[in-house]
Amino acid sequence: MTALKLKALPASNPRVRGRAKDSKTKSQKEEQSFKAPPLMKPGRDYMLNLPKGYLSNSQIELYLRCPAQYEFKYVQGQRQTEKFYFLEGNAIGKAMETTCNAFMDTGVHLTLKQAISVQRSFVAKGAKDVEDWEEHSPSDLKARGKTMLTNFWESGYLPKLRPVERDGRSGAEHKLVGKIAGVPFLGFIDLLEETVVTDFKVSNNPRKRYNAQKSLQLALYGMMTKMNKARYLTWSRKTCLFDEIGPVSLPLAKTKKWVDRVVSNVAYGISKGSFPVTNPSADYLCDERWCSYWGKCYGASK
Ligand code: SF4
Repeated sequence: MTALKLKALPASNPRVRGRAKDSKTKSQKEEQSFKAPPLMKPGRDYMLNLPKGYLSNSQIELYLRCPAQYEFKYVQGQRQTEKFYFLEGNAIGKAMETTCNAFMDTGVHLTLKQAISVQRSFVAKGAKDVEDWEEHSPSDLKARGKTMLTNFWESGYLPKLRPVERDGRSGAEHKLVGKIAGVPFLGFIDLLEETVVTDFKVSNNPRKRYNAQKSLQLALYGMMTKMNKARYLTWSRKTCLFDEIGPVSLPLAKTKKWVDRVVSNVAYGISKGSFPVTNPSADYLCDERWCSYWGKCYGASK
């Protein structure tokens, strides 16, 4: 039997060009005709029922990552396992917060030695609460913290940090209180300056520029402060090097629609008691290492 030979049509062929043009037009038409459903407003469309009475960035991110995990933590009140990396990130955050507060009070940042001392004390105090150290130890955290802070102080970046007070609240760990899409929201910005909002991060894989541009957290903070510039200051756990990601420009008008939708959807789902599990094969965070409830959930069903 002779194999049927299909001849590829050249790109210049008008039949190909015509099809491509048609399909593009069709998808454009579909895009134009798509109308997002109206936002569900608490009090008007449903009764708001949030475990804490408000949403925060960490609550929203957890719900989006895995609603079942949100239910374990916030609805059932089951504690998360204290991991070493929470303490490590918080200790660097504390040193940065203390230097920013010192600058606000006196106009002078901490010395490197003072900052290292804050970080070490924080680790020493919090070490007893850590339940999962993996292969790390309190000494590792202190040593890495010292290197991270030294790299930062020696980079010459420190004098650029200029926290400002707003609404009577400090620019270090700046407290945000308000409503988004009618939903109460509470947040803390690591550093609020005249034109930029900043979040500090310590992680294995520091964020990239596109992470900052697509960041829900930075979008929430930008929207709440009506500031369109945001950045991450990051430290790598592997190299202890510091990097500035951004500042990126947040398109506030577009961001507002998106953030309103996210907050509205999450508040509605929680209030209605909708807490589906995530897909373990599609979500690498559905894993013993990253989910404290794995043994009660997917891990228990194996
Ligand atoms: S085991 Fe997976 S599905 Fe269950 S709570 Fe954790 S992340 Fe969610």
